[in-house]
Amino acid sequence: MLADLLFPEIKESIEDITKKYPKRPNWQTITRMWPSPTWFVHIWNVYSAMLDDIFGHKDNWINFLRIEDTDQKREVEWAKNKIVDIMKKFWLIFDEGPIWANYTDLWDYGPYIQSQREYIYKVFAKHLLSEWKAYPCFMTEEELAEIREHQTIWRQVSGVYGSFSKWRNATEEEIKNELETKKEFVVRFKSPWKIGDRVVVNDMIKWDVETNDNFLDIVILKKTGIPTYHFAHLVDDYLMWTTHVFRSDEWFASLPLHLQLFKAFNYTPPRYIHYAPLIKLDNWNKRKLSKRKDLEADVEYYFKLWYPIIAIIDYLANIINAWYEDWRKENTKKSFKDYDFKIEKMSQAWALVDMEKLDFVSKEYIANLWIEELFNEFTNWANKYDNELMKLININIDYTKQALNIERELEKPPKRFCKMSDIPSQLTFFFDEIYKNLDINFQELIPNIKKEHISKFLANYKEYYNLNQSKEEWFSQLKEIAVNSSFAINNKEFIEWTHIWKIWDAAMILRVVLCWQRNTPDLYETMQTMWKQRVDTRINKFI
Ligand code: GLU
Repeated sequence: MLADLLFPEIKESIEDITKKYPKRPNWQTITRMWPSPTWFVHIWNVYSAMLDDIFGHKDNWINFLRIEDTDQKREVEWAKNKIVDIMKKFWLIFDEGPIWANYTDLWDYGPYIQSQREYIYKVFAKHLLSEWKAYPCFMTEEELAEIREHQTIWRQVSGVYGSFSKWRNATEEEIKNELETKKEFVVRFKSPWKIGDRVVVNDMIKWDVETNDNFLDIVILKKTGIPTYHFAHLVDDYLMWTTHVFRSDEWFASLPLHLQLFKAFNYTPPRYIHYAPLIKLDNWNKRKLSKRKDLEADVEYYFKLWYPIIAIIDYLANIINAWYEDWRKENTKKSFKDYDFKIEKMSQAWALVDMEKLDFVSKEYIANLWIEELFNEFTNWANKYDNELMKLININIDYTKQALNIERELEKPPKRFCKMSDIPSQLTFFFDEIYKNLDINFQELIPNIKKEHISKFLANYKEYYNLNQSKEEWFSQLKEIAVNSSFAINNKEFIEWTHIWKIWDAAMILRVVLCWQRNTPDLYETMQTMWKQRVDTRINKFI
């Protein structure tokens, strides 16, 4: 038989293989994430894993991880482990997959790494060959190029189909002869459809869509015996009993082909959900988030800046269902998994990545953290990225917490941080150890007031300020001292000395003298935190 001639090493039948993958209970929804491992984990991977997790885990159903590592060129060995680790960080849980110790398979529907399944794909390809629903194709690159050229010249649809396929209707004899001289072949699906055929396909976001049916004899097994995505999808999702395939909209065009493949085996296809890819606005044009152009495509980028993981999740959840945001406002401490996501409410075209939105969501999240949570999150960052600061924090734990807590207990606290990497610039000045080593150019920071006038004001202020005062008392005293010190403003060249009183200037002087920068947290609370000795030392240093 022809199939035996092509794959003599394959002895088992598809029934033999199917027996090893026992039917799962009817009532279970089975989803899977099926990433291709590369050196780079795309934020889109997290987004799609969230979808699988959210919908797969409704009512405790199953979501498994399968790795598409057949595109050997792109594959990076450690990349699959990295995917597992990163998904864990996002609390995206898989019930099955290469997730066990040392990234070995957990559970019985594996192997979950595609490169370990080559034998199985061959069994299925051999079956199609035996039914003449597929055929070996020996065409060379040159022959394929010739076809392409002909099709371009004659404005025909390009690809291998119908009479363009030299091997589609070859006899067993012809194939045997070819095999004797040439061993290399690909296996092509023999599409029973022709150009112009239409089909109605169903998708859970788009509903019924009428579209062109597939008429191409696409490759299902490459020369190397490795399956293409299309064929691996059929085999694996059939054997592993996937019921719902969530995948990017780019695959929608292949749906007619996939349905044909399922039909060729008489299998029921899964339900499909094609979601819009993540896009961004670039000069008001929409385009796909690109690995090459966009820093924010890489998950590590968010890690380095240290957006809290939950903030990233919230932000992606907002993209999945726009109503999530309102729910989140009411349920600040709940898990995103408690929200009732709806597939039908996903946008068909719109999945916009917008860093300003992320900043907004993240600020909101950080503002809602308890101080202990904020402290932990921040020290996780500092432990990794700022040893010097971390050492200081370790010997000043309460002081650090107090500094981090500034303005957070106000009735309407301003939202100050988008991510943990924003914090050091608002924290380091609390530590004398860092202060000592800094060479600060005060004049640059307060260019419009003369040094001697600053000193005069500070000397006065130091005499009278009192940290036991309430904020109101403290503020009116600051005003008073500022007036009495009558410091000068020479921001216009000809006005050397005026007595224009500005409380704003007085406060700015204090900010710069105490924190060596103009942008600081609430001054009263900052002084309360630093307390008298520090405040005095810093004022004295300036004077
Ligand atoms: N590896 C494919 C991709 O990343 C998987 C698509 C699917 O889930 O079917 O696009």
